[in-house]
Amino acid sequence: MDKQTLSFQAEVKQILHLVTHSLYSNKEIFLRELVSNASDACDKLRFEALDKAELYEDDPDLEIRVSFDAEKKTITIHDNGIGMSADEAVQHLGTIAKSGTREFMAALEGEQKKDANLIGQFGVGFYSGFIVADRITVETRRAGLPAEQGVRWSSEGTGEFEVETIHRPERGTDVILHLRDGEDEFLAAWKLRSIISKYSDHISLPVLMPKQRWDDEKKEQVTTDEWEAVNKAAALWARSKSDVTDAEYQEFYKQISYDSEAPLAYTHNRVEGRTEYTQLLYVPAKAPFDLWNRDKRGGVKLYVKRVFIMDDAEALMPVYLRFVKGVIDSADLPLNVSRELLQESRDVKAIREGSTKRVLAMLEDVAENQKDKYAEFWEQFGAVLKEGIGEDHVNQERLAKLLRFASTQADSGVGFADYVARMKEGQEAIYYITAETLAAAKSSPQLEIFRKKGIEVLLLTDRVDEWMLSHLYEFDGKPLQSVAKGGVDLGKLQDEEEKKAAEATAEALKPVLERLKEALKERAKDVRTTTRLVDSPACIVADDGDMSAHLARLLKQAGQ
Ligand code: ADP
Ligand code: MG
Repeated sequence: MDKQTLSFQAEVKQILHLVTHSLYSNKEIFLRELVSNASDACDKLRFEALDKAELYEDDPDLEIRVSFDAEKKTITIHDNGIGMSADEAVQHLGTIAKSGTREFMAALEGEQKKDANLIGQFGVGFYSGFIVADRITVETRRAGLPAEQGVRWSSEGTGEFEVETIHRPERGTDVILHLRDGEDEFLAAWKLRSIISKYSDHISLPVLMPKQRWDDEKKEQVTTDEWEAVNKAAALWARSKSDVTDAEYQEFYKQISYDSEAPLAYTHNRVEGRTEYTQLLYVPAKAPFDLWNRDKRGGVKLYVKRVFIMDDAEALMPVYLRFVKGVIDSADLPLNVSRELLQESRDVKAIREGSTKRVLAMLEDVAENQKDKYAEFWEQFGAVLKEGIGEDHVNQERLAKLLRFASTQADSGVGFADYVARMKEGQEAIYYITAETLAAAKSSPQLEIFRKKGIEVLLLTDRVDEWMLSHLYEFDGKPLQSVAKGGVDLGKLQDEEEKKAAEATAEALKPVLERLKEALKERAKDVRTTTRLVDSPACIVADDGDMSAHLARLLKQAGQ
């Protein structure tokens, strides 16, 4: 193929513009992104070679090499991974496959500090090279293709890129960054080494750099042609817990999640028994921009015996824990396991159950011992956790304990257990009301009698609450009772005198009720007297078995 000049997809142009004009802090992450791409490329080769060993050609030791040339002002990131064909280079380096570009732009525009760290989160890491380079050249050959089908891709990161065919005997990819003026600080071995060990220590492949040697005559460090590993090259989760520091756990989290904040909590365990696996799972501190997309890829990576298998293994975590990030490394699954197989595997089922319990235990621990932190968690992920009440019957009780609500006594943070502990003598049910906003809930006339008697009522204002409550009937043996449904029976909470008075009133109002019933017969199922009101003359309630007025409104909004 002769040299061709092609245009970047419009979104890429926008990204490039942002990258080159507005990312000032954390510039060094370009190296993390390119090393991580090199590592992904090696993972892909290892995976494809599982049933096509010839792809290794005669070069089976996968590795990444980082070097620089101070005179030419270039940095080169080399890998002998899967490489790219010409079509793939055009596709992968000229367009953005994943959605989320718009969110990325919005995140950057909102962000005062213009943190380059954000870039990896949106699957556009390659372009971060243009933070420091005014030209990037990629030379690559896909494993299995002949040397004549090498590709050179090159761009200045503005509107266009060039591609041409080259002769390239070695498999894999070289990414060559031609540094911008003023970026010379990256042309130093110690600098590159420190960035690599900061960000890429956990990469399970060796990241090599030329060995340095002290030259007595020149009185300086000189570069030799020997290579040495500058990272630990040991998968962090495979190390023993006692060998890993808190700082290392945190750094690993940042690498797999692209979150610039520290995680809220994590758990690391080796599980032995019928199914053997290692889990390292994190709960983020902040919800990602696409939390509400239930189809979004999960955050748990699947490895089998240290070999990366897939990124978005949704079978490993229930949907309601989709915010959990981390790694699960199985010792039992076959290396060529497919998505379909994962769905059916008994080992995967055991892993999912075990991991779910671990995450719940981690949340219980935070809820118990770090109440403020738990409140932050709840703020971010509470509504997602509620989905679990309907989806995970096995853990429903544990999940119910983790729920937090507003109530007539506190605007947030009320758990069922707190409520039960405050129940009045003789109170048998847990009372709640659903509404669109806290203000609407608070001003509901249906609360009047509860207020008067000092009985706490939970105020539920999340969209999922109604749905959740259609799956949860009781807590700790106490039924959940809507104050907006049926004839709320205050039971023992009503004293004899009140009961008598109520009965007398009902008797006296009988003729009025009859007339009202007649007048409203098309619109109301029934008209009754009530003891639940104190100041208001009347209110609408739903029948016990019917949906509440609030749910009816929600469904109407959803067009059902
Ligand atoms: P992501 O890594 O999240 O997919 P990037 O922008 O970092 O996004 O990379 C885009 C794509 O370019 C990768 O998915 C991959 O297909 C391709 N790519 C980048 N670097 C390499 C490499 N060293 N070897 C092979 N393919 C690569
Ligand atoms: Mg990448």
